Amino acid sequence: MMEIIEVPVVIVGAGPAGIATAGCLNKLNIPNIVLERDDCNASFYRKRTHDNLKLHLDKKFCSLPHYPIPPSFPNFLTRVQFLRYIESYVAYFNVSIKYNRAVDSAVVLERSNKWRVVAKDTSSGTYETYVSDFLVVATGENSEGFIPEIEGLEKYDGVYMHSSKYLNGRETYGKNVLVVGSGNSGMDIANDLTNCGAYTSIVVRSPVHFFSKEMMFAGMSMLKHFEVKTVDKFMVAMSKMFYGNMSKFGLIRPKEGPFAMKMKNGTTPIIDMGCVKKIKNRQVKVFPAILSIEEAKTVQFTNGQRAQFDMIIFATGYRTNVLSWLEDYEILFNEDGMPKPSYPNHWGGEQGIYCAGFSRLGLEGIPYDAKNIANHIQYTINLRESFNH
Ligand SMILES: Cc1cc2nc3c(=O)[nH]c(=O)nc-3n(C[C@H](O)[C@H](O)[C@H](O)COP(=O)(O)OP(=O)(O)OC[C@H]3O[C@@H](n4cnc5c(N)ncnc54)[C@H](O)[C@@H]3O)c2cc1C
Repeated sequence: MMEIIEVPVVIVGAGPAGIATAGCLNKLNIPNIVLERDDCNASFYRKRTHDNLKLHLDKKFCSLPHYPIPPSFPNFLTRVQFLRYIESYVAYFNVSIKYNRAVDSAVVLERSNKWRVVAKDTSSGTYETYVSDFLVVATGENSEGFIPEIEGLEKYDGVYMHSSKYLNGRETYGKNVLVVGSGNSGMDIANDLTNCGAYTSIVVRSPVHFFSKEMMFAGMSMLKHFEVKTVDKFMVAMSKMFYGNMSKFGLIRPKEGPFAMKMKNGTTPIIDMGCVKKIKNRQVKVFPAILSIEEAKTVQFTNGQRAQFDMIIFATGYRTNVLSWLEDYEILFNEDGMPKPSYPNHWGGEQGIYCAGFSRLGLEGIPYDAKNIANHIQYTINLRESFNH
Protein backbone atom coordinates (compact mmCIF):
# COMPACT_ATOMS: atom_id res chain seq x y z
CA MET A 1 0.00 0.00 0.00
CA MET A 2 1.16 3.50 -0.79
CA GLU A 3 2.25 5.51 2.25
CA ILE A 4 0.29 8.73 2.81
CA ILE A 5 2.26 11.74 4.00
CA GLU A 6 0.18 14.53 5.56
CA VAL A 7 1.57 18.06 5.54
CA PRO A 8 -0.21 21.46 5.67
CA VAL A 9 1.41 22.83 2.49
CA VAL A 10 2.80 21.04 -0.57
CA ILE A 11 4.89 23.16 -2.94
CA VAL A 12 5.59 21.69 -6.37
CA GLY A 13 8.91 22.85 -7.85
CA ALA A 14 12.20 23.88 -6.19
CA GLY A 15 13.05 26.77 -8.49
CA PRO A 16 13.44 30.29 -7.08
CA ALA A 17 9.64 30.66 -6.72
CA GLY A 18 9.08 27.42 -4.78
CA ILE A 19 12.06 28.05 -2.55
CA ALA A 20 10.97 31.65 -1.85
CA THR A 21 7.48 30.49 -0.90
CA ALA A 22 8.93 27.84 1.44
CA GLY A 23 11.20 30.53 2.96
CA CYS A 24 8.22 32.81 3.67
CA LEU A 25 6.18 29.92 5.13
CA ASN A 26 9.08 28.84 7.35
CA LYS A 27 9.40 32.40 8.62
CA LEU A 28 5.77 32.09 9.75
CA ASN A 29 6.37 28.59 11.20
CA ILE A 30 3.96 26.95 8.76
CA PRO A 31 5.15 23.41 7.94
CA ASN A 32 5.60 22.69 4.24
CA ILE A 33 7.42 20.41 1.85
CA VAL A 34 8.84 21.15 -1.61
CA LEU A 35 8.66 18.37 -4.22
CA GLU A 36 11.20 18.67 -7.04
CA ARG A 37 11.37 16.38 -10.09
CA ASP A 38 15.09 17.00 -10.58
CA ASP A 39 18.02 15.99 -8.36
CA CYS A 40 18.87 19.62 -7.44
CA ASN A 41 17.29 22.96 -6.67
CA ALA A 42 17.12 25.79 -9.25
CA SER A 43 17.55 23.14 -11.95
CA PHE A 44 16.63 25.66 -14.65
CA TYR A 45 19.71 27.77 -13.89
CA ARG A 46 21.84 24.71 -13.13
CA LYS A 47 21.00 22.56 -16.17
CA ARG A 48 18.95 24.42 -18.77
CA THR A 49 20.76 27.73 -19.27
CA HIS A 50 24.09 28.28 -20.99
CA ASP A 51 27.35 28.40 -19.02
CA ASN A 52 27.99 32.13 -19.51
CA LEU A 53 24.50 33.32 -18.59
CA LYS A 54 24.37 36.45 -16.44
CA LEU A 55 21.18 37.69 -14.83
CA HIS A 56 19.77 40.47 -16.98
CA LEU A 57 18.41 42.49 -14.13
CA ASP A 58 20.23 44.30 -11.34
CA LYS A 59 20.42 42.24 -8.12
CA LYS A 60 17.97 44.67 -6.54
CA PHE A 61 15.28 43.07 -8.73
CA CYS A 62 16.45 39.45 -8.33
CA SER A 63 16.55 38.94 -4.54
CA LEU A 64 14.18 36.47 -2.95
CA PRO A 65 12.08 37.72 0.00
CA HIS A 66 13.52 38.49 3.46
CA TYR A 67 17.13 37.72 2.44
CA PRO A 68 18.65 40.16 -0.07
CA ILE A 69 21.52 39.25 -2.37
CA PRO A 70 24.57 40.35 -0.32
CA PRO A 71 26.43 43.61 -1.07
CA SER A 72 29.61 41.59 -1.78
CA PHE A 73 27.98 40.26 -5.00
CA PRO A 74 28.21 42.36 -8.19
CA ASN A 75 25.11 44.14 -9.50
CA PHE A 76 24.62 41.60 -12.31
CA LEU A 77 25.12 38.08 -11.01
CA THR A 78 26.61 35.29 -13.06
CA ARG A 79 24.70 32.02 -13.21
CA VAL A 80 27.07 30.48 -10.65
CA GLN A 81 26.77 33.42 -8.25
CA PHE A 82 23.00 33.17 -8.46
CA LEU A 83 23.17 29.44 -7.66
CA ARG A 84 25.36 30.18 -4.63
CA TYR A 85 22.81 32.74 -3.46
CA ILE A 86 19.95 30.21 -3.89
CA GLU A 87 21.90 27.63 -1.88
CA SER A 88 22.48 30.10 0.95
CA TYR A 89 18.75 31.00 0.87
CA VAL A 90 17.79 27.31 1.20
CA ALA A 91 20.21 26.89 4.13
CA TYR A 92 19.20 30.15 5.85
CA PHE A 93 15.48 29.31 5.83
CA ASN A 94 16.06 25.58 6.29
CA VAL A 95 13.90 24.81 3.24
CA SER A 96 12.85 21.17 3.12
CA ILE A 97 13.10 19.78 -0.44
CA LYS A 98 12.42 16.22 -1.58
CA TYR A 99 14.40 15.69 -4.77
CA ASN A 100 13.66 13.23 -7.59
CA ARG A 101 9.92 13.63 -6.93
CA ALA A 102 8.10 14.24 -10.20
CA VAL A 103 4.55 15.22 -9.36
CA ASP A 104 2.26 13.10 -11.46
CA SER A 105 -1.18 14.25 -10.35
CA ALA A 106 -2.92 16.64 -7.95
CA VAL A 107 -6.65 16.60 -7.22
CA VAL A 108 -9.01 18.06 -4.65
CA LEU A 109 -10.58 15.37 -2.46
CA GLU A 110 -14.31 16.02 -2.43
CA ARG A 111 -15.08 15.01 1.15
CA SER A 112 -12.25 16.75 2.96
CA ASN A 113 -11.50 19.56 0.48
CA LYS A 114 -7.84 18.65 0.86
CA TRP A 115 -5.32 18.17 -1.96
CA ARG A 116 -4.03 14.73 -2.88
CA VAL A 117 -0.68 14.98 -4.62
CA VAL A 118 0.97 11.90 -6.13
CA ALA A 119 4.70 12.05 -6.88
CA LYS A 120 6.92 9.51 -8.56
CA ASP A 121 10.22 8.88 -6.81
CA THR A 122 12.30 8.78 -9.97
CA SER A 123 15.28 7.17 -8.24
CA SER A 124 13.30 4.11 -7.06
CA GLY A 125 10.34 4.15 -9.48
CA THR A 126 7.84 4.06 -6.58
CA TYR A 127 4.99 6.48 -5.92
CA GLU A 128 4.25 8.60 -2.83
CA THR A 129 0.98 10.27 -1.86
CA TYR A 130 0.85 13.58 -0.04
CA VAL A 131 -2.31 15.04 1.47
CA SER A 132 -2.31 18.77 2.20
CA ASP A 133 -4.63 21.67 2.99
CA PHE A 134 -2.82 23.95 0.55
CA LEU A 135 -1.09 23.41 -2.79
CA VAL A 136 1.44 25.85 -4.25
CA VAL A 137 2.20 25.43 -7.95
CA ALA A 138 5.78 26.62 -8.55
CA THR A 139 6.66 24.58 -11.64
CA GLY A 140 7.59 27.68 -13.63
CA GLU A 141 6.43 29.48 -16.75
CA ASN A 142 9.35 27.85 -18.58
CA SER A 143 9.00 24.17 -17.73
CA GLU A 144 9.00 22.70 -21.25
CA GLY A 145 10.93 23.97 -24.27
CA PHE A 146 8.80 24.68 -27.35
CA ILE A 147 9.84 24.21 -30.99
CA PRO A 148 7.26 25.40 -33.57
CA GLU A 149 6.23 23.25 -36.53
CA ILE A 150 8.43 24.06 -39.51
CA GLU A 151 7.94 22.55 -42.93
CA GLY A 152 10.79 20.19 -43.76
CA LEU A 153 12.40 20.14 -40.30
CA GLU A 154 12.18 16.33 -40.23
CA LYS A 155 14.54 16.10 -43.19
CA TYR A 156 17.07 18.68 -41.92
CA ASP A 157 20.53 17.19 -42.17
CA GLY A 158 22.27 19.29 -39.48
CA VAL A 159 21.91 19.33 -35.70
CA TYR A 160 18.98 21.14 -34.16
CA MET A 161 17.97 21.72 -30.55
CA HIS A 162 15.90 23.87 -28.23
CA SER A 163 17.78 26.73 -26.52
CA SER A 164 17.38 24.99 -23.12
CA LYS A 165 19.77 22.31 -24.41
CA TYR A 166 22.46 24.80 -25.44
CA LEU A 167 25.08 24.89 -22.67
CA ASN A 168 28.09 26.25 -24.55
CA GLY A 169 29.36 26.71 -28.07
CA ARG A 170 32.70 24.87 -28.04
CA GLU A 171 31.58 22.49 -30.80
CA THR A 172 30.42 25.33 -33.04
CA TYR A 173 33.80 26.89 -33.89
CA GLY A 174 33.87 27.67 -37.62
CA LYS A 175 30.32 26.36 -38.15
CA ASN A 176 27.30 28.16 -39.59
CA VAL A 177 24.72 28.40 -36.83
CA LEU A 178 21.22 29.84 -37.03
CA VAL A 179 19.44 30.99 -33.88
CA VAL A 180 15.67 31.16 -34.30
CA GLY A 181 14.03 33.71 -32.02
CA SER A 182 15.06 37.15 -30.90
CA GLY A 183 14.00 37.17 -27.27
CA ASN A 184 16.63 37.43 -24.57
CA SER A 185 17.55 33.72 -24.86
CA GLY A 186 18.11 33.95 -28.62
CA MET A 187 20.12 37.18 -28.44
CA ASP A 188 22.26 35.87 -25.58
CA ILE A 189 22.99 32.59 -27.34
CA ALA A 190 23.83 34.37 -30.62
CA ASN A 191 26.27 36.53 -28.67
CA ASP A 192 27.81 33.48 -27.00
CA LEU A 193 28.12 31.62 -30.32
CA THR A 194 30.10 34.42 -31.96
CA ASN A 195 32.41 34.45 -28.92
CA CYS A 196 32.95 30.74 -29.55
CA GLY A 197 33.90 31.31 -33.18
CA ALA A 198 30.65 30.31 -34.92
CA TYR A 199 29.37 32.17 -38.00
CA THR A 200 26.14 33.26 -36.42
CA SER A 201 22.78 34.29 -37.84
CA ILE A 202 19.55 35.08 -36.04
CA VAL A 203 15.90 35.07 -37.10
CA VAL A 204 14.10 38.24 -36.02
CA ARG A 205 10.45 37.96 -37.00
CA SER A 206 8.82 40.88 -35.23
CA PRO A 207 9.75 44.39 -34.05
CA VAL A 208 11.75 44.43 -30.81
CA HIS A 209 12.80 46.90 -28.14
CA PHE A 210 16.44 46.70 -27.04
CA PHE A 211 18.23 48.35 -24.15
CA SER A 212 21.47 48.01 -22.25
CA LYS A 213 21.11 46.49 -18.78
CA GLU A 214 21.92 49.88 -17.25
CA MET A 215 19.06 51.54 -19.20
CA MET A 216 16.75 48.76 -18.06
CA PHE A 217 17.76 49.35 -14.45
CA ALA A 218 17.11 53.10 -14.83
CA GLY A 219 13.70 52.42 -16.43
CA MET A 220 12.60 49.93 -13.78
CA SER A 221 13.65 52.30 -11.01
CA MET A 222 11.78 55.19 -12.69
CA LEU A 223 8.58 53.13 -12.83
CA LYS A 224 8.27 53.56 -9.07
CA HIS A 225 7.88 57.34 -9.51
CA PHE A 226 6.58 58.01 -13.05
CA GLU A 227 3.79 56.82 -15.34
CA VAL A 228 4.51 53.97 -17.76
CA LYS A 229 3.97 56.31 -20.72
CA THR A 230 6.64 58.73 -19.49
CA VAL A 231 9.16 55.99 -18.71
CA ASP A 232 8.55 54.34 -22.10
CA LYS A 233 9.29 57.62 -23.93
CA PHE A 234 12.50 58.03 -21.95
CA MET A 235 13.56 54.43 -22.64
CA VAL A 236 13.02 54.65 -26.40
CA ALA A 237 14.87 57.98 -26.56
CA MET A 238 17.82 56.45 -24.66
CA SER A 239 17.88 53.40 -26.92
CA LYS A 240 17.80 55.56 -30.08
CA MET A 241 20.58 57.77 -28.76
CA PHE A 242 22.79 54.81 -27.79
CA TYR A 243 22.17 52.34 -30.64
CA GLY A 244 20.93 54.66 -33.40
CA ASN A 245 18.60 53.51 -36.16
CA MET A 246 18.98 49.74 -36.35
CA SER A 247 16.27 49.08 -38.95
CA LYS A 248 18.82 48.70 -41.76
CA PHE A 249 20.37 45.87 -39.72
CA GLY A 250 17.01 44.12 -39.27
CA LEU A 251 16.00 45.42 -35.84
CA ILE A 252 12.84 47.53 -35.96
CA ARG A 253 11.41 49.10 -32.80
CA PRO A 254 7.70 48.49 -32.06
CA LYS A 255 5.30 51.44 -31.98
CA GLU A 256 4.11 50.56 -28.47
CA GLY A 257 6.43 51.36 -25.53
CA PRO A 258 8.47 48.56 -23.83
CA PHE A 259 6.82 48.60 -20.40
CA ALA A 260 3.33 49.04 -21.89
CA MET A 261 3.99 45.87 -23.96
CA LYS A 262 5.36 44.05 -20.94
CA MET A 263 2.23 44.85 -18.94
CA LYS A 264 -0.18 44.09 -21.78
CA ASN A 265 1.12 40.73 -22.98
CA GLY A 266 4.25 39.92 -20.97
CA THR A 267 6.66 40.66 -23.85
CA THR A 268 10.09 41.30 -22.33
CA PRO A 269 12.32 43.81 -24.13
CA ILE A 270 15.80 42.68 -25.14
CA ILE A 271 18.32 43.43 -22.45
CA ASP A 272 21.41 43.52 -24.61
CA MET A 273 24.40 41.57 -23.39
CA GLY A 274 26.44 42.33 -26.54
CA CYS A 275 24.44 40.94 -29.46
CA VAL A 276 23.00 44.24 -30.72
CA LYS A 277 26.51 45.63 -31.21
CA LYS A 278 27.44 42.44 -33.07
CA ILE A 279 24.41 42.82 -35.32
CA LYS A 280 25.56 46.38 -36.05
CA ASN A 281 29.07 45.12 -36.88
CA ARG A 282 27.53 42.43 -39.12
CA GLN A 283 29.13 39.78 -36.94
CA VAL A 284 25.62 38.44 -36.43
CA LYS A 285 23.46 38.37 -39.54
CA VAL A 286 19.69 38.96 -39.27
CA PHE A 287 17.13 36.95 -41.26
CA PRO A 288 13.31 37.18 -41.31
CA ALA A 289 11.06 34.19 -40.43
CA ILE A 290 11.81 30.71 -41.78
CA LEU A 291 9.54 29.59 -44.62
CA SER A 292 10.76 26.01 -44.83
CA ILE A 293 13.75 23.75 -44.58
CA GLU A 294 14.81 22.40 -47.92
CA GLU A 295 16.97 19.38 -48.58
CA ALA A 296 20.17 18.80 -46.56
CA LYS A 297 21.04 21.96 -44.61
CA THR A 298 19.34 24.67 -46.65
CA VAL A 299 16.91 27.02 -44.95
CA GLN A 300 14.55 29.20 -46.97
CA PHE A 301 13.35 32.47 -45.44
CA THR A 302 10.14 34.41 -46.05
CA ASN A 303 12.00 37.05 -48.11
CA GLY A 304 13.12 34.35 -50.56
CA GLN A 305 16.72 34.19 -49.28
CA ARG A 306 18.32 30.78 -48.82
CA ALA A 307 21.30 29.87 -46.65
CA GLN A 308 22.96 26.72 -45.33
CA PHE A 309 23.38 26.01 -41.62
CA ASP A 310 25.19 23.23 -39.75
CA MET A 311 23.13 23.83 -36.65
CA ILE A 312 19.82 25.45 -35.73
CA ILE A 313 19.05 26.53 -32.17
CA PHE A 314 15.40 27.21 -31.46
CA ALA A 315 15.06 29.99 -28.89
CA THR A 316 11.34 29.89 -29.54
CA GLY A 317 10.07 29.93 -26.00
CA TYR A 318 8.60 27.68 -23.40
CA ARG A 319 5.30 26.32 -22.17
CA THR A 320 4.16 25.58 -18.65
CA ASN A 321 3.54 21.92 -17.78
CA VAL A 322 0.73 22.57 -15.31
CA LEU A 323 -1.95 20.83 -17.38
CA SER A 324 0.10 17.63 -17.57
CA TRP A 325 -0.13 16.94 -13.82
CA LEU A 326 -2.66 19.28 -12.16
CA GLU A 327 -5.97 17.54 -12.80
CA ASP A 328 -8.10 20.22 -11.09
CA TYR A 329 -6.26 22.96 -12.94
CA GLU A 330 -9.33 24.98 -13.91
CA ILE A 331 -9.74 26.32 -10.36
CA LEU A 332 -6.83 28.68 -11.06
CA PHE A 333 -5.35 28.03 -14.53
CA ASN A 334 -6.51 28.46 -18.12
CA GLU A 335 -6.00 26.07 -21.05
CA ASP A 336 -2.50 27.51 -21.65
CA GLY A 337 -1.40 26.53 -18.15
CA MET A 338 -1.22 30.14 -16.99
CA PRO A 339 -3.26 31.70 -14.14
CA LYS A 340 -6.73 32.90 -15.15
CA PRO A 341 -6.64 36.10 -13.06
CA SER A 342 -4.13 38.61 -14.33
CA TYR A 343 -1.37 40.33 -12.32
CA PRO A 344 -1.57 41.45 -9.50
CA ASN A 345 -4.39 39.00 -8.60
CA HIS A 346 -2.90 35.93 -10.30
CA TRP A 347 -1.36 34.19 -7.27
CA GLY A 348 -4.33 32.59 -5.50
CA GLY A 349 -7.51 30.70 -6.25
CA GLU A 350 -10.18 28.93 -4.24
CA GLN A 351 -9.81 25.61 -2.44
CA GLY A 352 -6.34 26.35 -1.14
CA ILE A 353 -4.49 26.50 -4.47
CA TYR A 354 -1.82 29.12 -5.19
CA CYS A 355 0.81 29.75 -7.82
CA ALA A 356 4.24 31.36 -7.43
CA GLY A 357 6.40 32.49 -10.34
CA PHE A 358 3.57 33.00 -12.87
CA SER A 359 3.44 36.81 -12.94
CA ARG A 360 5.43 37.10 -16.23
CA LEU A 361 7.84 39.36 -14.33
CA GLY A 362 10.73 36.89 -13.94
CA LEU A 363 12.55 36.91 -10.62
CA GLU A 364 11.24 40.39 -9.82
CA GLY A 365 7.69 39.07 -9.41
CA ILE A 366 8.59 36.21 -7.05
CA PRO A 367 8.80 38.05 -3.66
CA TYR A 368 5.32 39.51 -4.23
CA ASP A 369 3.86 36.05 -4.96
CA ALA A 370 5.68 34.26 -2.14
CA LYS A 371 4.83 36.80 0.57
CA ASN A 372 1.16 37.03 -0.46
CA ILE A 373 0.79 33.24 -0.58
CA ALA A 374 2.41 32.69 2.84
CA ASN A 375 0.38 35.50 4.45
CA HIS A 376 -2.85 34.21 2.93
CA ILE A 377 -2.17 30.66 4.11
CA GLN A 378 -1.48 31.96 7.62
CA TYR A 379 -4.68 34.01 7.54
CA THR A 380 -6.71 30.97 6.42
CA ILE A 381 -5.19 28.73 9.10
CA ASN A 382 -5.94 31.33 11.80
CA LEU A 383 -9.51 31.73 10.53
CA ARG A 384 -10.11 27.97 10.59
CA GLU A 385 -8.68 27.72 14.11
CA SER A 386 -10.91 30.53 15.38
CA PHE A 387 -13.98 28.71 13.95
CA ASN A 388 -12.96 25.48 15.66
CA HIS A 389 -12.72 27.09 19.11
C1 LIG B 1 17.21 31.62 -20.71
C2 LIG B 1 16.44 32.35 -19.65
C3 LIG B 1 17.07 33.32 -18.88
C4 LIG B 1 16.39 33.98 -17.88
N1 LIG B 1 17.03 34.95 -17.19
C5 LIG B 1 16.35 35.67 -16.28
C6 LIG B 1 16.95 36.77 -15.60
O1 LIG B 1 18.11 37.11 -15.85
N2 LIG B 1 16.23 37.46 -14.69
C7 LIG B 1 14.93 37.13 -14.42
O2 LIG B 1 14.31 37.78 -13.59
N3 LIG B 1 14.33 36.10 -15.04
C8 LIG B 1 14.98 35.38 -15.97
N4 LIG B 1 14.36 34.35 -16.63
C9 LIG B 1 13.01 33.97 -16.24
C10 LIG B 1 13.10 32.69 -15.35
O3 LIG B 1 12.10 31.85 -15.77
C11 LIG B 1 12.97 33.00 -13.89
O4 LIG B 1 14.01 33.80 -13.49
C12 LIG B 1 13.00 31.80 -12.91
O5 LIG B 1 13.61 30.65 -13.40
C13 LIG B 1 11.60 31.46 -12.53
O6 LIG B 1 11.67 30.67 -11.38
P1 LIG B 1 10.53 29.61 -11.08
O7 LIG B 1 10.87 29.02 -9.76
O8 LIG B 1 9.20 30.23 -11.26
O9 LIG B 1 10.65 28.53 -12.25
P2 LIG B 1 11.81 27.48 -12.56
O10 LIG B 1 13.14 28.07 -12.28
O11 LIG B 1 11.53 26.98 -13.93
O12 LIG B 1 11.57 26.30 -11.49
C14 LIG B 1 10.50 25.38 -11.60
C15 LIG B 1 10.92 24.08 -10.94
O13 LIG B 1 9.82 23.18 -10.96
C16 LIG B 1 10.28 21.87 -11.25
N5 LIG B 1 9.17 21.07 -11.79
C17 LIG B 1 8.51 21.25 -12.95
N6 LIG B 1 7.54 20.33 -13.08
C18 LIG B 1 7.56 19.56 -11.97
C19 LIG B 1 6.79 18.46 -11.52
N7 LIG B 1 5.77 17.96 -12.24
N8 LIG B 1 7.10 17.89 -10.32
C20 LIG B 1 8.10 18.39 -9.55
N9 LIG B 1 8.87 19.44 -9.95
C21 LIG B 1 8.59 20.03 -11.14
C22 LIG B 1 11.40 22.12 -12.26
O14 LIG B 1 12.29 21.03 -12.34
C23 LIG B 1 12.06 23.38 -11.69
O15 LIG B 1 13.09 23.08 -10.79
C24 LIG B 1 15.03 33.67 -17.63
C25 LIG B 1 14.38 32.71 -18.42
C26 LIG B 1 15.05 32.08 -19.44
C27 LIG B 1 14.31 31.10 -20.31
